[in-house]
Amino acid sequence: MEFKDEEYTIDVNQLLVVSEKFGSADVYGQNAKSILNKATGFIKAYDFTLNPYRGCQYGCTYCYAAAFSPNEKKRDEWGKWVLIKENAAEVLEKELMRWQKKNSDKFPSIYMSSVTDPYQPIESKTQLTRRLLEVMLEYRPILVIQTRSPIITRDIDILQRFKNLRVNMSIPTGSEVVRKDFEPQTPSIKARLNAMKKIKTKINDLTGYLPKLSITITPLLPTLPEEQENFIRQLNFVDRVVIQDFHASHKRSLIASTRDAAIDMKKKYEWWYSNEAKNYQQFKGKLVEILNDVEIKEGQAGFTYE
Ligand code: SF4
Repeated sequence: MEFKDEEYTIDVNQLLVVSEKFGSADVYGQNAKSILNKATGFIKAYDFTLNPYRGCQYGCTYCYAAAFSPNEKKRDEWGKWVLIKENAAEVLEKELMRWQKKNSDKFPSIYMSSVTDPYQPIESKTQLTRRLLEVMLEYRPILVIQTRSPIITRDIDILQRFKNLRVNMSIPTGSEVVRKDFEPQTPSIKARLNAMKKIKTKINDLTGYLPKLSITITPLLPTLPEEQENFIRQLNFVDRVVIQDFHASHKRSLIASTRDAAIDMKKKYEWWYSNEAKNYQQFKGKLVEILNDVEIKEGQAGFTYE
C-alpha cells in the first residue's frame, strides 16, 4: 500500500507471541483495541481506514508501510511477518454500531486497507477479511478495497451484495521482470488481471451489484518500452486507471524511509529513473491515448470512491 495515514503505538515486543509460520512468514496474533482508524492524509475523504493485519507478507521493496514497523528489526524483515488482529470482526461490529448511533443519517466510508494487504496469503486461512465484509454489509458502507491479490475472488459472493464498493487492484508495472525485482513475493500481473476480470464476469452472471473497478499503477514502476502498449490495452475492461509517481514533486522517486532493496532496484532501472518525470508523462500519455473509455486519474484524485 502507498498511503501514509496511521501511527502505531503498540509495543509489539511486549505483547506478541509467535504462534506459527505461514509460508516463510512469522505469524503473530493479537487482540486489537480498535479496528477503525480515522482516515487522514492521502485518503482523508474517507471516515476510516481498516487494516485487518499489521505487516504484510507481500513485502514490496518500496512499501512505505514498512516504516511503521514496531522496531528496526521488523522493518528490515518487512514481508517476513504478519500480525493477525484476531478479534477484528467483533471490534468492528461494536465500533460500527456506536458510530451509526451517532450518525444515523449517513453511512460510513471505509478504506480497506492502507498499510497492509487485506488479501495477503494468510487470509486464505484466517478468512478475517471475509468476516469483516460480513459485518460491514449490515452497515451499508461506502467501501474501497485495495489489494494486489487474486484471493479477493473467493469473496465474490459477498462483494456483489454491497451497494457502494470499489475494488482497487494494484499493478504498478506491466513487466513481470520488473515485478519480480520490486515485489518478488506478490502474485503475477496476469493473476491480478484475471482476478479483476473474474469479479466482473462472475458478478454479471450472478446479476449482483457490480463494484466499480480500478487498476492502480501506484507507484508507477518501470515497464519495459516494448511491453507498455500491450499492458495498457489489457486494462480496457475497468472503469478507472490510477497512476502516481513515488513523489508528488516529480523530483524524488523514493521517500526518505525507502529500504535499500528498492534503492538498489532504482539503480538497476537507471534507464527509467534517470528520466523519471519524462517517462511518467509518456506513460500517462499512452494511457490516455489507448484507453478511450477508461477514466485516467493521477495521485490522490484517483483514490476517491466516486
Ligand atoms: S502489498 Fe501493499 S502493504 Fe503489502 S508490502 Fe506491498 S505495498 Fe506494502
